[in-house]
Amino acid sequence: MGLTQMRKYRIKEIWKTLQGEGVMAGRAAVFVRFVGCNMWSGYEQDRNTDARRNKAACPIWCDTDFTKENSHFYTAEALVNEMCRIGGKIRFCVLTGGEPLLQADAALIQALHQEHFEVAIETNGTLSLKDTFTINDQLYPPDWIVCSPKLPDEQLRIEYCDELKLVVPDYLPAQYPLLAERIRTTKLRPALHLPTCWLQPEDGTRKEAAQYLAIQAALEHPTWRVSVQTHKILDIP
Ligand code: SF4
Repeated sequence: MGLTQMRKYRIKEIWKTLQGEGVMAGRAAVFVRFVGCNMWSGYEQDRNTDARRNKAACPIWCDTDFTKENSHFYTAEALVNEMCRIGGKIRFCVLTGGEPLLQADAALIQALHQEHFEVAIETNGTLSLKDTFTINDQLYPPDWIVCSPKLPDEQLRIEYCDELKLVVPDYLPAQYPLLAERIRTTKLRPALHLPTCWLQPEDGTRKEAAQYLAIQAALEHPTWRVSVQTHKILDIP
């Protein structure tokens, strides 16, 4: 058995739902949450120290549970089987976290493609797609890449993405001119005029101020749109 076949991925949860945001909003999907993130440990007591150490704002307000408690290890084959069991006929998946690029790799993308999954991934942009998804000098990247950056533009290593999502107020369009240049969707399919740059108001104690700022930013930068989290309006997980 080869090394890639033995590799196991630590997964917090797998669930069937609708994608709530962005270009794919409303589409049935199997979500896979990977354990771990390179911005925050995931534990309350580390919020401030991790925010300071990484010089990132998101550990202060991140509300996602990607800790190792109640997680499970899967081989690529076992993970795809479980996704098929949970998703039934659905063949669109979203790999999320935490930071899924810390674990996802070319072998997993190949296994998902063999089962005819279209693979989307949500990343903070700190890791290189080439380094993560190359096997035997061949690149097997996910099909759809959503980047929600949490560090300054010049510290990001992601080579390209299809959608960009900024969580307002900590992240704003003027801070990401380089990353906005790396969106491939508009270059590949310019005639579609797909919306690719999103302003996501932070959903916490600063919600009202964040919504106001997101609207102002969209009026000032017309290539950006305010993102609406349809899964919260529809009350689905
Ligand atoms: S990068 Fe994303 S998952 Fe990680 S701490 Fe920040 S907001 Fe949370």
